[in-house]
Amino acid sequence: MEKKHFERPIIKKLQTGMPNKFGMKTEYEPISEIDGVSVKDLVANYGSPLYVMSENTIRETYREAHRAFSTRYPKVQFAWSYKTNYMNAICNIFHTEGSWAEVVSGFEYDKAINNGVPPSKILFNGPDKSEKDLEKAIKHGSYIHIDHFDELYTIINLTNKMKERPKVAIRVNMDCGIYPLWSRFGFNYENGEAWEAINRIMLTKKIDFVGLHCHIGTYILAPWAYGIAAAKLADLAVAIEKKFNHYIKYIDMGGGFASKNTLKGAFLPGSDTCPTFDQYADAITTALINSPINHEHLPVLLLESGRSLIDDAGYLVGTVLANKRLPEGKLATIIDIGVNLLFTSFWYDHKVTPAQQFSHHTEDTIIYGPLCMNIDIIRENVQLPPMKKGDNIVISRIGAYNMTQWMQFITLRPNIVLVDSKSKAHVIRGNETPDNIMKNELVPEHLKKFEL
Ligand SMILES: *Cc1c(COP(=O)(O)O)cnc(C)c1O
Repeated sequence: MEKKHFERPIIKKLQTGMPNKFGMKTEYEPISEIDGVSVKDLVANYGSPLYVMSENTIRETYREAHRAFSTRYPKVQFAWSYKTNYMNAICNIFHTEGSWAEVVSGFEYDKAINNGVPPSKILFNGPDKSEKDLEKAIKHGSYIHIDHFDELYTIINLTNKMKERPKVAIRVNMDCGIYPLWSRFGFNYENGEAWEAINRIMLTKKIDFVGLHCHIGTYILAPWAYGIAAAKLADLAVAIEKKFNHYIKYIDMGGGFASKNTLKGAFLPGSDTCPTFDQYADAITTALINSPINHEHLPVLLLESGRSLIDDAGYLVGTVLANKRLPEGKLATIIDIGVNLLFTSFWYDHKVTPAQQFSHHTEDTIIYGPLCMNIDIIRENVQLPPMKKGDNIVISRIGAYNMTQWMQFITLRPNIVLVDSKSKAHVIRGNETPDNIMKNELVPEHLKKFEL
C-alpha cells in the first residue's frame, strides 16, 4: 500500500469560512480536468504556468448571448472586441460563429484583416487612429467610429484627396445613471456635442453617416443603464430622421456586460450577482422597439461584448512553488502565476481551486505569485486546503483581458492552449523564448565589452 503523505497538524482559530447566500462554503471540488483533458496531463505536456481556453465554453456563451438578443430584436450583429482577447484562434472562433470584428488600433485592424475578416465587417473604435489608419479604413470601407472633432476634421480632410466615401458613426457618451461617467470617449449627449458632431458630418456631404455608437463602461451590473443609453441614441436617430430625412443603418451598444467574476470587496459572489444576457437584451431592445424610430427603418443592433463572452472560457493552470508561515501566523502559498500573467487579479477575487483531491481542512491563505515584487499577490485571503510544493492549482474565469494586458516582466510568458470540442488540446500561442524577447534589443558599440 502506498504511504500516505504526511500533513503537519496545526492549531487554528475556529472559523466557519465565508458562507455564500445558501449558507455553504464554496470552492470545494477540485478541478482535475478541463473539458475532458486532465490538468496534470496539460501541465506535463505544455508546462506550468499555462493558459487554457475552452472552445466549447466560448461557443456556448456566444450562442446564449446571441439567442437572448436575436429573439427580442429582428436585426442583431455581434462584433468581437479584439482587445479583450486577440489570440487569432480565439478571434476566429467568434468569426466562425458569425461575429464581426471590433478593433481599437491599427495593430488590431491589421490583425482582423489577417484573420480574414472582410473590411466591411470591421468596426474601428478608439481615440488613437492615425491618419494612415483612417486612410486604410476609408479605402477598404470599414466602419469608423469617430471619437473626437480632431478625428472628424482629419477624415473630412482625407475626403478631399480620396474618392471613397468614409462610412462613419460617432461614439456618444452620456449620463445613463451609472457613475463615474465615462465622458472621455466620444461626444457628449447632454451638452449637445454629439448633435453638433452629427450636424457637421451631415453637412459635409462627402461622408456616409451610418450609425451611432456607445460603450458606457465595463462590468456594468445594471442592465437598466443600457436602456437609458439606448433610448438616448434612439432620440438622436429620430432627430437625424427629422432634420435630414436620413436613416442610420445601426445602433451599436458597445460592450460592458459583467462577467461572473467577483469584484474585490463584493459581498456576494459574481456568479450570483451577474445579470443574464436576457436582462441586458430586455433593457436594450425594449428601449429601441418602444422608441419613435420609424419601424420600417429599424437600425441593426450591434453589440461589442468582450468580457462577458470570454471570461468563463479561460483558465490559468499553475503549480505550488512553496508554502510559508508568515510571522503573523498566516499561511502563504507561493505559486508560479504572477500578476504579470493575471492582470485582472488587481480587481477580481479570482476563484482558485486545487487540481487534485484535498482534505477538508482549510485555512485562510494568502497566495503570492513568483515575482520578486511586493504587489505580486493573487489572492489576499482565500480559504484553501493546505497544498504541497508541486501540487497544481486552477484559476478560473480569466479569459478576458489577461492574454492582451499581460506583461513580459522578470520571466517569459507561457503557452496558451485551446481545448477543442473533441477534448483535443492545441497550442494557440507558443511560450516565449529569450530569443523572442532579445531580438529587438541593440547594444551600442561602446557598451559591448567590459571587464569586471
Ligand atoms: C473594450 C471595449 C469593448 C468590450 O468591452 P467589455 O467590457 O469587455 O465587454 C467594446 N467596445 C469598445 C469600444 C471597447 O473599448
